[in-house]
Amino acid sequence: MGLTYKRTNVYATADKAELDAIMAYNEGYKKFLDAGKTERETVANTIKLVEAAGFKPYVLGAKISKGDKLYYNNRGKSLFIIRAGTADLETNGVRVLVAHVDSPRLDLKQVPLFEKASMAYLKTHYYGGIKKYQWLTIPLSLHGVVAKKDGTLVSVNVGEDEADPVFYITDLLPHLSQEIDVKPVKDAFSAENLNLLVGGIPVGDAADSDRVKRGVLEILHKKYGICEEDFLSAELEAVPALKAHDVGFDRAYVASYGHDDRVCAYPEITATLQTETEQTVLTVLADKEEIGSEGNTGMQCILIRDILRSIAVSYGADPAVVRAHSKCLSADVTAGFDPAFPSAFEELNAAYVHHGVAMDKFTGSRGKSGSNDASAEYIGYLRGVFDKEGVIWQPSELGKVDVGGGGTVAKFIANQNIDTVDMGVPVLSMHAPYELVSKADVYSAHKAFSAFVK
Ligand SMILES: [Zn+2]
Repeated sequence: MGLTYKRTNVYATADKAELDAIMAYNEGYKKFLDAGKTERETVANTIKLVEAAGFKPYVLGAKISKGDKLYYNNRGKSLFIIRAGTADLETNGVRVLVAHVDSPRLDLKQVPLFEKASMAYLKTHYYGGIKKYQWLTIPLSLHGVVAKKDGTLVSVNVGEDEADPVFYITDLLPHLSQEIDVKPVKDAFSAENLNLLVGGIPVGDAADSDRVKRGVLEILHKKYGICEEDFLSAELEAVPALKAHDVGFDRAYVASYGHDDRVCAYPEITATLQTETEQTVLTVLADKEEIGSEGNTGMQCILIRDILRSIAVSYGADPAVVRAHSKCLSADVTAGFDPAFPSAFEELNAAYVHHGVAMDKFTGSRGKSGSNDASAEYIGYLRGVFDKEGVIWQPSELGKVDVGGGGTVAKFIANQNIDTVDMGVPVLSMHAPYELVSKADVYSAHKAFSAFVK
């Protein structure tokens, strides 16, 4: 250990074999991104990955035996992956990894379809923190489910296949934009104008009204067997119809929709599936983080406590003692320093792309409000773990004090009496329809999470 501290650039220190490993790892990550654009799709895709690795469905409350590889599918929207280890639970606890798989998007309203000026639209209600203007004039796809009265669930995925149509939200031409151009950005774009253009060809007789809307309904009925009323019990999400792509002549970056937070979920999954360990590992893909982790698929739900309890009881251990000795990495993205907007960052404590997965001792806003603020002792322990396994990582803080802030699921796990710290990949353009990460940092997250569960 040198006398002074300096971050390490992963690319600058990687030899040829390490660089090849970084590139190869991100090929798998890009496939994972394209295979699941919503929480439901990511959970379904992850179940395929863990089943291929020999994991079996877990029935809540069933006994868990040492060596078991299990997963619990919570309502198709969140997933608990359990690797039951051989190490003593009351002294070692459980290694918990949590990332979320919901991302900012435009949800359809429950009565979404209308026609205006011979154009048919679907009304949306945005989910999570977005800059509204970023969602105009880009190709959008529609994903989700329609739950019919008879109990059948219809899956919808339109706009991802090359042969599919996409959907579109219009913007005003600059020539006529003078009134809007002078408004603050936060006031210039109305949420009620985030309407998806979905049709334009009228059907029926000239005397009929809303003939374009009817045309759309006829197509939906033919393709999915649904009527307008079925939107009442639908969860349909509009997301960018864009695939993950390498960025840069040297392919140093990946741009994609929804890095936040699948860029932490994927390394969690690979670390869980690939690491040889005696520890018991619980890996969680959570829903609803972007809207406060509420509800029975979010991390405020006591399900995580129930599952930890089932593990403890199965081993004949006291659940409270197991929790007290458990450790958690709350894996969520942080803001990468952006040279285009330096005034938002404090340069000593910002996360820098290419410098490894970033640890936020605390998150929150103003005076660390809403943060679990991990202990020095826990971070000291993790420094030792990462050093031993050659993990390149960096400390980070989400922007300058008092310029904003944000929260994660960390506090909900810490509230269960589990040592928890935030650790995740730095992202540029976070919450934009097309976000950017460094491939080096994605691979560093895999190495860090692998070291943690070892
Ligand atoms: Zn987020």
